[in-house]
Amino acid sequence: MNNLVRAISWDGSVICCAVDSTRMVGEAERIHQTSATVTAAMGRLLTASSMMGSMMKNTEDSVTLRLAGDGPMGAAIAVAEGTGDARCYVVNPVVEIPLNQYGKLDVAGAVGKKGTLSVVKEVGLPEPVMSHSPIVSGEVAEDITYYYAMSEQVPTVCGLGVLVNPDLSVKAAGGYLIQLLPGADESAIDQIEKNVNALPPVSQMFDEGMTAQQVAFRALEGLEPQILDERVVSYRCNCSRERVERALVSIGAEELMRLAEEQKVTEVDCHFCNKKYRFNSDELRNLIQK
Ligand code: ZN
Repeated sequence: MNNLVRAISWDGSVICCAVDSTRMVGEAERIHQTSATVTAAMGRLLTASSMMGSMMKNTEDSVTLRLAGDGPMGAAIAVAEGTGDARCYVVNPVVEIPLNQYGKLDVAGAVGKKGTLSVVKEVGLPEPVMSHSPIVSGEVAEDITYYYAMSEQVPTVCGLGVLVNPDLSVKAAGGYLIQLLPGADESAIDQIEKNVNALPPVSQMFDEGMTAQQVAFRALEGLEPQILDERVVSYRCNCSRERVERALVSIGAEELMRLAEEQKVTEVDCHFCNKKYRFNSDELRNLIQK
């Protein structure tokens, strides 16, 4: 079933992307073996990246979010393709901290309340488009909202949520991103404000069985929403032996020679999917010729 939907108001002035990322975040938890709080933080970032990827012009485009706060989790990175498929990586997968004052997983405590959100977009230009905005709360959704306001000057409302089961698997995850396009009038803005205030927490909506389309339509209630497009998005890594070879070449001939002499087999693990690539000494030496 399509788990990412983009809908637009009747007059084209408000767009909403919604995604049920339960399976995607579940896969991230299985790969990275994260503690509950990190699953929530990493899952929110992954979910946001998937929506941001799906809003890019071309499927070949990509967006990388790097959330680097001063909390114990360290930096988290999520990369999404223009298809909306995404992958992620976190420096410290296991952070055990108490619940916050509301009895919820303390995402801001894991991320940190100071630091930088970097957004790098590859849109087919010779250089990627890069921007940085400060972390404002460490809860991720507000940090994404702030990024859009500061760097893209697009008024945005972002909701992100991850529910974790007692056995650490992911119970429900999802998000929405509402954006006002040029031409949005006061009445549409008032309506969105009313809708957002009435929305239950996003993970609760998906946990209760709402679909991405239902969430998007609820966010745009009263604005005669129509579906713009919908698709299936999942956790996907695009690593390959060829890419790993290029990465090895980039560390330089001297280092490759040292590795070839020190060990029979050099193993390189992909940070995003844990796939292992093995190179014997002859293969490393061949790379030096390249
Ligand atoms: Zn990989």
